[in-house]
Formats: sequence, structure tokens, C-alpha cells
Amino acid sequence: MIQTLQVRSSKQTELIDITRPVVEAVQKTGMTEGLCVIFIPHTTAAVTINENADPSVPRDILMELNKVVPFEDRYQHSEGNSAAHIKSSLVGCSRTLFIESGKLLLGTWQGIFFCEFDGPRSRQVHVKVVKG
Ligand code: ZN
Repeated sequence: MIQTLQVRSSKQTELIDITRPVVEAVQKTGMTEGLCVIFIPHTTAAVTINENADPSVPRDILMELNKVVPFEDRYQHSEGNSAAHIKSSLVGCSRTLFIESGKLLLGTWQGIFFCEFDGPRSRQVHVKVVKG
């Protein structure tokens, strides 16, 4: 069974902590050992894992991504959101995590972030738990 979480972004680019809803999705399955696959079904968004203790970390990540891939350049894509497509590919649309003893095996400072690169929008996050 795939669970689909709804995420609402409020800015053009934004990292949104989705750790809690993903943990809840895992708990809902009752699975104690396995894998949790997170998949983002969008071409201008992504998912990453990084520090969620200090909110300046996701802000810094976003600031540098926005510098590395400028919003305006000689892009050919007529929709005008090439920067968002590029950032989506750089960060990636999927992550796989371990589930041990019913818990997601994240490091002390790690959190899961939905990465919005072309907001604000309503977005989806697919979560599938696989026994193993
Ligand atoms: Zn586009």
C-alpha cells in the first residue's frame, strides 16, 4: 500500500520538514522491520535528509542551491522554471530509510525535508513501507 501525504508550500523555494508525517505513515502500517521509500511525483520538487535541529541549516542549503542554479539564465524551457527542474534533479526525488523496531532509523539530528523549488503549490509525497 502506498500512502500519499499532502504538502502545501508557501514560497517559491522552501524546505519543509516532513519527518513527523512520514513517521506517522510508517507507524500506521504497523511494520517493525523493513524499508521506507519516499517518492516525490513532481519534476520541480525533491526530498532530502539533513539537520532539522537548527533551522538555519535548511535555509543555508536553499540559499546555496539558489546560487548554484540561478533562477534566470539562458534556459530554453519555455515554462520559465528550468532552475526548479535542475534543482529537482540535483537533490533527487526519492529516499530510502531503514525501519528498525518500528522506528525510522534516522540520526539524532536528521530530519526529512520536502524541497519545494517552484512554489507555492499543493504537492504530494508518496510513502511505501516494504517488509524486510
Ligand atoms: Zn517546467
